[in-house]
Amino acid sequence: MNDPNTSPFIDVLIAGAGPTGTTLAIDLMRRGVNVRIIDKAPHSFEGSRAKGIQPRTLEVFDDLGTIDEVLAGSSDYPRLGIHLGPVAAPWRMFRNRDRTADVPYPNTRLIPQYRTDSVLHDRLEQLGGRVEYGRELVEFVQDSTSVTTTVTGDGGTEKITARYLVGAEGGSSAVRSQLGLSFLGTTDEQDRMLIVDAVTTGLSRDRWHIWPGVKGRFAGACPLPHSDLFQWMVRLAPDEDPPEGAETITRRIQAQTHNRNIQVHDIRWRSVFRPNIRLAEAYRRGRVFLAGDAAHVHTPAGAQGLNTGIQDSYNLGWKLGQVLAGADAQLLESYEAERLPIAAGVLGLSTQKYEGIAKLDPSSLRRGKDEQQLSLTYYGGPLAPTNCDRTTTLQVGDRAPDAELLDTNGASVHLFDAFRGPHFTVIAYGRDATVASEELDWPTAGAPLRRVVVDADAGEDFRHIYGIKGDTLLLIRPDGYIGHIATRNFLASIQTAARAMAPVVQQETAR
Ligand SMILES: Cc1cc2nc3c(=O)[nH]c(=O)nc-3n(C[C@H](O)[C@H](O)[C@H](O)COP(=O)(O)OP(=O)(O)OC[C@H]3O[C@@H](n4cnc5c(N)ncnc54)[C@H](O)[C@@H]3O)c2cc1C
Repeated sequence: MNDPNTSPFIDVLIAGAGPTGTTLAIDLMRRGVNVRIIDKAPHSFEGSRAKGIQPRTLEVFDDLGTIDEVLAGSSDYPRLGIHLGPVAAPWRMFRNRDRTADVPYPNTRLIPQYRTDSVLHDRLEQLGGRVEYGRELVEFVQDSTSVTTTVTGDGGTEKITARYLVGAEGGSSAVRSQLGLSFLGTTDEQDRMLIVDAVTTGLSRDRWHIWPGVKGRFAGACPLPHSDLFQWMVRLAPDEDPPEGAETITRRIQAQTHNRNIQVHDIRWRSVFRPNIRLAEAYRRGRVFLAGDAAHVHTPAGAQGLNTGIQDSYNLGWKLGQVLAGADAQLLESYEAERLPIAAGVLGLSTQKYEGIAKLDPSSLRRGKDEQQLSLTYYGGPLAPTNCDRTTTLQVGDRAPDAELLDTNGASVHLFDAFRGPHFTVIAYGRDATVASEELDWPTAGAPLRRVVVDADAGEDFRHIYGIKGDTLLLIRPDGYIGHIATRNFLASIQTAARAMAPVVQQETAR
């Protein structure tokens, strides 16, 4: 092995280029942060693993510039076909909803993880970034100003020093282990699931087929969109050797389904996994953070793991960008405070669904509001105090919904178009709020501010969705959550809120 090379100092090193790490790299790149992203694998992940993208994540993809590719590469969820003897009972997992003025992406989309990963990697490259494959983070030391990491790979060992390190390297995170953080929860060693992506004949592609089995040992076959593949999930008996090879897997499936027509041919990816239910005791130590599966692992039921990881990164990205630009480092404390309770809730939800699927409990086969992640809120967290003003429909910390309005120039504005990008948005409704929004100084360093002034006579849709009854000023964070609501004392209160999230305004740099 070569002598360690010391590389130039960077802002952020991300270990792991799965959906979590790549989302963070995209968000940081578009903020102009000097970032590197490494992955120990030789190439991007090839399996279908996480295949449900929730409405809230679709909104994140809209902001990050990947929504068209994700929609084109995905499909609606097929109905379940539950095979009970010779009949297959249809079951609708989701009630397909029409888009509404406040929710442009109302339905969960089905897309294999290899395609989601590839869309994200393409976006990163468009922004000038690149995943460095075959590079493994092995250790690090940190002090009060930086983290020095040791990265190994084909090219030898490299020392990379960064202001921050983010461990997004999945459930067996080396960063988490080196921080000595417990991964609290359980792994049932007896409970294993065979997962296979394979070309399959003898099965219709218009259903996600489920065959219940004794003691909850179901088998499932989900058709993967825009491919000739199914994702098979077969829950194994405790003493069962996981079958390998197309023939053995076909025999195992035929034994469970009692259907000799089903044939598995071409296996593209195969894995045996144990559902872990675990949560890291903390998401941060000093300059080192955890995100995604490195911080929390779930059962696959409810399609939450990848979505939660992407939203971790979406929460962390703008905060790192702001602190690197000079905002108070206290802002970074809010990452764990906002995201850890969400993961704890998601773990409970996916565990409940998983246990229910085994028992074929109908409510566990139905997906609804909780899984869509649209109603997640940071209300009551460090950036969303409970004594803040509220509207009749929204509190600080809630997701800022989409709405169409006319601004005072007579231009039609969709709020999600106004939010798209790395900036904050201030929305002013009414004369006093408008004056305050104009007087609000915003720093030139860090995320910029976009101002939207609503035409009070033509904002009915906005008023209804945002629950506006009189003059109101809202500050929307770069991740699309409400950072502040003022219905009085507009300027002073928004300045106080902004101080926690943005660098100090220097007089000479003030607007
Ligand atoms: C069968 C199954 C079905 C699932 N279905 C869903 C679903 O429908 N919806 C959903 O949201 N979630 C689902 N999940 C969960 C989802 O797959 C994970 O939550 C998701 O992959 C986590 O993404 P991540 O980026 O955090 O980690 P990963 O995808 O695990 O990526 C981590 C990356 O880090 C790299 N790495 C590891 N160690 C190092 C190191 N030391 N240095 C550098 N690189 C390293 C790895 O090579 C890997 O590329 C499912 C999981 C399973 C098993």
